[in-house]
Amino acid sequence: MEEEYTGIVIRTIHFNESSEIVHVLTNQGIISVMVKGARRYKSHKLSFCIPMTKVSFKVTSSKISSLIDYTILNDYSIIKEDLKKNLWFSYILEIVNKLPDNSYYRNIYNLIDKIFELGSFNNPMLLIMIAQTKLLKIYGVEPELKKCVICGKPNLDFFSISNGGFVCNNCSANDKTNAKPYLDIRTLYYFDIYNGNLNDLSNIDLKDVFLNLKAYYDYYVDIKLHSLSSLII
Ligand SMILES: [Zn+2]
Repeated sequence: MEEEYTGIVIRTIHFNESSEIVHVLTNQGIISVMVKGARRYKSHKLSFCIPMTKVSFKVTSSKISSLIDYTILNDYSIIKEDLKKNLWFSYILEIVNKLPDNSYYRNIYNLIDKIFELGSFNNPMLLIMIAQTKLLKIYGVEPELKKCVICGKPNLDFFSISNGGFVCNNCSANDKTNAKPYLDIRTLYYFDIYNGNLNDLSNIDLKDVFLNLKAYYDYYVDIKLHSLSSLII
């Protein structure tokens, strides 16, 4: 018995002397594939094990899926070979790899597949900020972006991380901050990545979005993200 999937390789871990365990994001979840003998001399399987590669593949339908055969659909060489693109896309794959169990893998796969497709010829930081904003929902911590999180009025005057959303002038929160970066985050959250025009997002201050999104993740999401400060200065 075998099973067939299409997906994007997000992580590879060495397993014994010559084998690899490869995590692949598919529309059915993150699948772990055992690739026996991947690092053996003249193995044809090593190119399956490189993160940021889109593959279709067949595995055994045993308890531990073992690779039978595969085809590379896209090696995203333009992303891999550009230092900035590579770092940004590694960053989002790290976030995807740490996602909690959920039932949204079809949406997650489509989103990540789309940003990789756009990644070769567009600003990687913009694409990753869109993805990271949308993934807040999967972590179950999406902020209130439409109204004051305390009283429900539609006034988006400030933002409060500890309250998880916008707050109006009349409501008090100890950590009220400038609403602007969160208005940008709201724009990214609702942006239609499949039909929208990325040029419509050219006024967004990505550095501000990155720093505020990081603060929000640090507060609510229990994962450690690598610092990308060298990329945003
Ligand atoms: Zn209020």
